[in-house]
Amino acid sequence: MNGKFGTAVLGAGLAGLASAYTLAKAKKRVVVVEKDSQVGGLSRTVVHNGFRFDLGGHRFFTKNPEIEELVKNLLSDELVVARRSSKIFMRGKYFDYPLKPFNALLGLGMRESAKIVIDYSLERLRSRKSIISLEDWVVANFGRELFNIFFKEYSEKVWGISCDRISAEWVAQRIRGLSLGVALKDALLRINHRKPATLIREFLYSAKGIGRLAERLREEVAPNPVLLGCRVKRVDHARGRILNITAQNCDSEITIEASNYISSIPITSLVKMLSPEPPEEVLQAASKLRFRDTVIVAIMVNKPRVTSLSWIYIPEKKIPFGRIHEPNNWSEAMSPRGKTSLVTEYFCFSGEKLWNMSDEELAQVTVEHLEELGFIKEKDVIDSRVVRVRNAYPLLEVGYRRHYEMILDYLSGFENLQLVGRTGMFRYHNMDHAMETGIKAARNILGEKHDLLTVNCATEYIEEVHPR
Ligand SMILES: Cc1cc2nc3c(=O)[nH]c(=O)nc-3n(C[C@H](O)[C@H](O)[C@H](O)COP(=O)(O)OP(=O)(O)OC[C@H]3O[C@@H](n4cnc5c(N)ncnc54)[C@H](O)[C@@H]3O)c2cc1C
Repeated sequence: MNGKFGTAVLGAGLAGLASAYTLAKAKKRVVVVEKDSQVGGLSRTVVHNGFRFDLGGHRFFTKNPEIEELVKNLLSDELVVARRSSKIFMRGKYFDYPLKPFNALLGLGMRESAKIVIDYSLERLRSRKSIISLEDWVVANFGRELFNIFFKEYSEKVWGISCDRISAEWVAQRIRGLSLGVALKDALLRINHRKPATLIREFLYSAKGIGRLAERLREEVAPNPVLLGCRVKRVDHARGRILNITAQNCDSEITIEASNYISSIPITSLVKMLSPEPPEEVLQAASKLRFRDTVIVAIMVNKPRVTSLSWIYIPEKKIPFGRIHEPNNWSEAMSPRGKTSLVTEYFCFSGEKLWNMSDEELAQVTVEHLEELGFIKEKDVIDSRVVRVRNAYPLLEVGYRRHYEMILDYLSGFENLQLVGRTGMFRYHNMDHAMETGIKAARNILGEKHDLLTVNCATEYIEEVHPR
């Protein structure tokens, strides 16, 4: 690459592109380096033989008016309003999701319901022990009975470790302020026809998939370069400054020099790319932070529609995937006319048996289970597509914070480096938070002062138990 850039951005997901967009609008010279052949990262849309699907349906929702305005301006008449309706499918029945107490109690029958309510009431009376794990948190807020029925299996399926090893911080970042008591109050408010603040029944979506948002940002970043298929592999530094980055592009190497660097690539990868190497304890800390990976299996069906839902959650471990969505229910432009697809999400660690299964095997297993669940018939399946996604979910294991803070402390010593986004900051950011960190990092370069660690810290009510 010729010449020195004002800023080099590592990663063309929403965080990195939002940084580049902000700098480009301020007429600054910026370059984005992305390892994939398309932009969008976790928020990309895969196009396959006329079908389109996200890596797990991506609902856009924000409480930040500036981000909402930006997204509306970028997507304008491509935006559609999708109806949100999610269910948990368990014991052959549908339960509302997020869990609604009356619906859950009705579905479980009188005996089990009575046990749940008594158990929850007793839990409220018990002296509080300190909340360290996800299990502690759920039992304190919902009772052990409900934990065992709805949360345990699902959480362990998603995370691959037992609930007493998942940090309660994860829940704190995701489902602030929720308990069986609050949910019961919500249900009563609804009976009184007052609209509870906790229910978001509609959401914005892009008619051609969430990936259009990143594509539109990329268009606005032009003529500044967004280099695709270009994997950053070394980050040179000296005296507390990043000097340049080296990236592999097909069979050639390029070195890019900039005054400022914004990184949205996984924090653990960044640490390992630094040259000279960081101190041993920082490298050790990076090897202790883990992400959960996911395998997406899309099954294309020769029918106009299979369900009427936005998401279906499958907690039971005997079914290997954890969530299904039908893109046609988000926007009809997601499939060719008269056809639909079901997109399933498997959770695993890369390198595990599931990750290493062939695409054909994964499709076969998925079709068998979808058929067993009653969603499709094998004869209606016309195509499939498998996408393996690394680093989908930061895994907040009990004790992770010590390692995390050591890494942050070390990286904060570089005066021209900022970390943004979900994998870049190892934080549970949704799309809007990822964009906000990207925009604020760019504004810091433009002379403003923002603390990126405060993004997504507001004490607001979030109702989801599933990680996004
Ligand atoms: C299954 C799932 C469902 C979700 N659903 C929702 C939802 O409904 N609503 C919502 O708001 N959010 C949702 N999210 C979260 C959302 O996807 C993220 O918040 C957002 O995409 C994060 O963007 P980012 O730019 O921070 O990270 P990423 O998208 O991870 O971007 C990082 C980029 O860096 C690139 N990269 C990595 N290593 C290198 C390297 N060495 N060199 C160059 N490039 C590199 C990657 O390819 C990637 O493009 C969901 C996430 C998942 C996994």
